[in-house]
Amino acid sequence: MAEPILRVRGLVKHYPLTTGVLFGKQVGAVRAVDGVDFDLARGETLGIVGESGCGKSTVARMLVSLEKPTAGEIRYKGEDVTRLSGRALKAVRRNIQMVFQDPYTSLNPRMTVGDIIGEAYDIHPEAAPKGDRRRRVRELLDVVGLNPEYVNRYPHQFSGGQRQRIGIARGLALRPEIIVADEPVSALDVSVQAQVINLMGRLQDEFGLSYVFIAHDLSIVRHISDRVAVMYLGRIVETGTDTEIYDHPTHPYTQALLSAVPVPDPEAREHRERIILAGDVPSPANVPSGCRFRTRCWKARERCAREVPVLAVPEALRHTAGPAAHDSACHFAQEAVAAGRSAPQVAPSGEGGTVPG
Ligand code: ADP
Repeated sequence: MAEPILRVRGLVKHYPLTTGVLFGKQVGAVRAVDGVDFDLARGETLGIVGESGCGKSTVARMLVSLEKPTAGEIRYKGEDVTRLSGRALKAVRRNIQMVFQDPYTSLNPRMTVGDIIGEAYDIHPEAAPKGDRRRRVRELLDVVGLNPEYVNRYPHQFSGGQRQRIGIARGLALRPEIIVADEPVSALDVSVQAQVINLMGRLQDEFGLSYVFIAHDLSIVRHISDRVAVMYLGRIVETGTDTEIYDHPTHPYTQALLSAVPVPDPEAREHRERIILAGDVPSPANVPSGCRFRTRCWKARERCAREVPVLAVPEALRHTAGPAAHDSACHFAQEAVAAGRSAPQVAPSGEGGTVPG
């Protein structure tokens, strides 16, 4: 396999918990990201999915060097970005750009669209000669499907979908190789979401981009992702090609998330079981021992409290699924494969369970 454009290993971000704002004693840590590994191949889209608070944005901010990891490596073309500073770091940052979630708050309302998109050239003047910037900005507007004549307008003069197009144009200004998109369509109407996702797909082909696409909903990333990583409480619990994850999930958390995805076909909807998870997500400041999903898992047994499950391909899939095609961090992934890799078991009463969807 060719070297991935991005290789993440053992990525950790802990925020200290202190007794007071100033001079407080550290009494613990919020384990926002707690040991994340993944590869991103060139030209590929990796979807990262999980409930709010599981650490997705923190991963995103570390990938674009907005935040320093507590531990771990982020290798961009083999070089560990977390160890770079100064000019070397700036050069890498140019190639890994972010598209933010909320197009209403991430665009400065007092700047024209032209200045918002062109601001990247003030930070990286080497990316475009001064005399050429205006032309490039207009070209970027055209590329994202907006009229280049709008260059002097302000953000409030655009709809939500158009604003996200402006955010994408800004992300493209420096011709990056990787775009980290943090819930880029979550704030948009459903009808507009598909348009923006289609646009991102087209831009990926046109510019050979690699995407890390973050969402809290498995249905959103399905159409754009080649591979999906499911996060829970700071860790990846299951990862695989989109077919493996959507058609043959082996981790109970993925099965639960999938059971909540809307199904358009009424007949399929009737036969489907909706899994209701017991309780709330534990605090990342107080992570359960062993498998961190066990407190909400209907399959949990004694072993789950003792042993941390390793993210690995289940034995039964080792020969059918290629390398990195499907990894699961569940002690009982093997059983899920044996059970036809789909149907979840019914939970004991009072501890979450399945109900008709
Ligand atoms: P997601 O993007 O999946 O919603 P986040 O990465 O935003 O999750 O947050 C993960 C966890 O880390 C949450 O519990 C959040 O409250 C915590 N967190 C994020 N940023 C900070 C911070 N600067 N200080 C303390 N805790 C933080």
